[in-house]
Amino acid sequence: MSQSIAVIKGDGIGPEIMQATLRVLDALDCGLSYQHIDAGLGALEKHGTLIPQESLDAIEKYGIALKGPLTTPIGKGFSSINVQLRRHFDLYANVRPAISFPGTKSRYDDIDMITVRENTEGAYLSDGQEMIDDGNTGISVIKVTRKGSERIVRYAFELAKNKGRRKVTAVHKANIIKTSSGLFLDVAREIAKEYPEIEFQEMIVDNACMQLVMNPHQFDVVVTTNLFGDILSDLCAGLVGGLGLAPGANIGEKAAIFEAVHGSAPDIAGKNIANPCALLLAAAQMLDHLGMNEKGDAIRQGIRTVLETRRDMVTPDMGGTGSTDSFAQALVEYV
Ligand code: NAD
Repeated sequence: MSQSIAVIKGDGIGPEIMQATLRVLDALDCGLSYQHIDAGLGALEKHGTLIPQESLDAIEKYGIALKGPLTTPIGKGFSSINVQLRRHFDLYANVRPAISFPGTKSRYDDIDMITVRENTEGAYLSDGQEMIDDGNTGISVIKVTRKGSERIVRYAFELAKNKGRRKVTAVHKANIIKTSSGLFLDVAREIAKEYPEIEFQEMIVDNACMQLVMNPHQFDVVVTTNLFGDILSDLCAGLVGGLGLAPGANIGEKAAIFEAVHGSAPDIAGKNIANPCALLLAAAQMLDHLGMNEKGDAIRQGIRTVLETRRDMVTPDMGGTGSTDSFAQALVEYV
């Protein structure tokens, strides 16, 4: 049976890297049918809004969206579409794998870890929820709930279980921010007891930063609150060579959106040199989510093979002499 997914091509380099990605998905014969929907600058021109209601309805209907990067226009009145989507669909889990690939400029080889970041509460609340901002003093609120912590920690353990991972590390600052980070840690300890087969480790966020830089191989799945997760997941992307290879999933009960972490790169749009890897890896995460793990693995292994053996087909940002199209072409041959 064919599974329909909503596809947002995106702005800037979005259409180029999306075309490359869909070409690879087609080659893998995943049985997906694509429902193209409007969002971003194209939608603004056509519908006067960055994310029209009919696009939201389509994501709700199909439950899965593959999304190219979107440009947030500069100026008042435009809030980030990513934040809007996260709020609208209550996409509570931001899942960011960091995997080493050959031929990338990075400090370490063989990193394979996943950051699971709570995406809806913590220090990133809706506008206007700061307590004080009188021009002299700014006080912001951190909100952590038992329900929010339970669902994110359980998500991390379930992910670890399903992917055969050995360990979950809860990262916190419970020694200082006792009320909110303390609650998160208490809940993490409770949920960990439900998964005796998976090692549970807890680590204070400052130590986690140092350990990630000095000995990243000790980590497997990291689960943490919103602000720490935002920072740690970029640190992890840096460990494996930057945002060009960083995918991310935003997952909720009713919808899941898969995307590259990088933006729409207007400086190189239309030049056929954008690296499609991050969106391809997001598509691999989507296939895992849909239960097609073998096909997800085929994309990851294919990228590894192309990077190792076909430098002539790889995009210039990765040191190759190829293009977006040639990368996709090479990958189609290897998946
Ligand atoms: P960016 O990630 O678009 O670009 C930063 C630099 O990285 C640029 O030099 C760009 O050429 C390069 N780059 C990015 N992706 C690349 C790729 N796949 N291949 C090769 N080079 C690549 O960040 P920015 O310039 O700060 O943002 C541009 C726009 O994207 C802004 O409107 C921003 O709001 C938006 N943005 C969207 C998302 C998203 O939709 N998820 C994320 C970040 C930024």
